[in-house]
Amino acid sequence: MEKFEVIIVGGGPGGLSCARTLAEAGVRVMLLERKKTIGRKVCAGGITWDGLIQRVPENLIERSFTEQRIFSNWQEVCFRRKLPIIATINREQLGRWMRDEAVKAGAEVRTGCNVREIQDQHVIVTDEQGKTFSLGWGQLVGADGSSSLVRRHLKIPSEKMGVGMNYQARGSYEHMEWHLNTGLFRNGYGWVFPHRETVSIGAYRPQTGIPPVRFKKRLLRWAESKGFRLDEVPAQAELINFDFRGFEFGKVWLVGDAAGLASGLTGEGIHPAIVSGETVARKIIDPNDPAAEIARMVTKQQRHQRIVDLAAGSAANCTLLMEALVLLLRLRLINFQKHLSM
Ligand SMILES: Cc1cc2nc3c(=O)[nH]c(=O)nc-3n(C[C@H](O)[C@H](O)[C@H](O)COP(=O)(O)OP(=O)(O)OC[C@H]3O[C@@H](n4cnc5c(N)ncnc54)[C@H](O)[C@@H]3O)c2cc1C
Repeated sequence: MEKFEVIIVGGGPGGLSCARTLAEAGVRVMLLERKKTIGRKVCAGGITWDGLIQRVPENLIERSFTEQRIFSNWQEVCFRRKLPIIATINREQLGRWMRDEAVKAGAEVRTGCNVREIQDQHVIVTDEQGKTFSLGWGQLVGADGSSSLVRRHLKIPSEKMGVGMNYQARGSYEHMEWHLNTGLFRNGYGWVFPHRETVSIGAYRPQTGIPPVRFKKRLLRWAESKGFRLDEVPAQAELINFDFRGFEFGKVWLVGDAAGLASGLTGEGIHPAIVSGETVARKIIDPNDPAAEIARMVTKQQRHQRIVDLAAGSAANCTLLMEALVLLLRLRLINFQKHLSM
C-alpha cells in the first residue's frame, strides 16, 4: 500500500491551500478529489477586500465593486470606497489556479477519486473506473465540505447548517446588491452578484429544513420582482456548515466547511477555507504554531452567530433586527468590511 505523510480529502479551496502549503515545506502530500475536475462548485463567487481580493491574481477577478447596495424592507444603504470592497470570481478558474499552484509546489492531486471509507492509518478510495484501492496516511485532513465524511468519521455532528441556492444567468448587471427581505428570506438574504458574462442571483438562509420547493418559489418570486426571469436557468443548491467544534483531532484535521468555518450570517466560506487550510498545514509542519488565524476567524464567526440567533425568533423580531442592522450601517456605526466579512 502506498503511504503519504498527509492525505487531504477534498479539492476545494480549503484542501488545495493546505496541499500547497504542505508541499512548499517539502511534505509528501496527496490530495484526493471525487469530482473529475477541480473547481466546479455551487457558489456566488463573492470575495472581499479583507479576504481574498488581494491574494488572487488580477486576471481571476471577473468584476470588482467600489460600491455595493444593501436593501432591507424599508431602507437602502449604498457604500462607496476608493478600493474594491467586493469582487466576483469564477470558482472553476479559482480551482484551476489553486490546483496548479499546489502541483507546482510538489503536491500530488488525483481527481475522480472518491474516498469511501476511513480506517486507522489508511483510506479506501474508488476511482472513476470503479477500481478500489487503499492509501496510507500519517496525518489526514478533512477538506471535504459541508457533508464531510472525515467529520462524520470523527463523530462530530453538524447542527448549524445554512442553505444557499444559486442561479447563474447569462447577461450583465451593474450593481452588487444584498436584499434583506425578511418576508421571503427571514434572517437570510437574496443577492445579485454580477460576473463578467453572467449574473449570480440567489438566496441564503442560515437553517435547513426549509422545503426546497418553497425556498425556490420565494427566490423566483423575488428575482422576478427585480426583473430577472430564471425559468430557463438551472437552480443549484448546497449546504453551508457553520458549526465549528474544533479543527485538530489527534492526527486528523478539519478545514473549511468540513470544520464548520463559514459565516452563518452571510454564508461566506471561501476565505475561511483557504485560511484554515494554510493554518492547519503550518500546524502539521510545526505543532507549536499557535494557529492564531483560525482563532481570529472563530471570533468573527461567533459575532455573526449572535446576529443569526437574535434574528431567528419571530418574523417581527427578525424584521426589527435587520432594520436596525441597516440603520447602523447607514449611520456608519457598523463597518461592512470589518464586521460583516470573514
Ligand atoms: C449557493 C452558495 C453560494 C455561495 N456563495 C459564496 C460566496 O459568494 N462567497 C464565499 O466566500 N462563499 C460562498 N459560498 C460558500 C463556499 O462555496 C464554501 O464555503 C467553500 O467552497 C468551502 O470550501 P471548502 O474547500 O471547505 O469545501 P468545498 O469547496 O465544498 O470543497 C470540498 C471538496 O471535497 C470534495 N469531496 C467531498 N467528499 C469527498 C470524498 N468523500 N472524497 C473525495 N472528495 C470529496 C468535493 O467534491 C469538493 O470538491 C456559497 C455556498 C453556496 C452553497
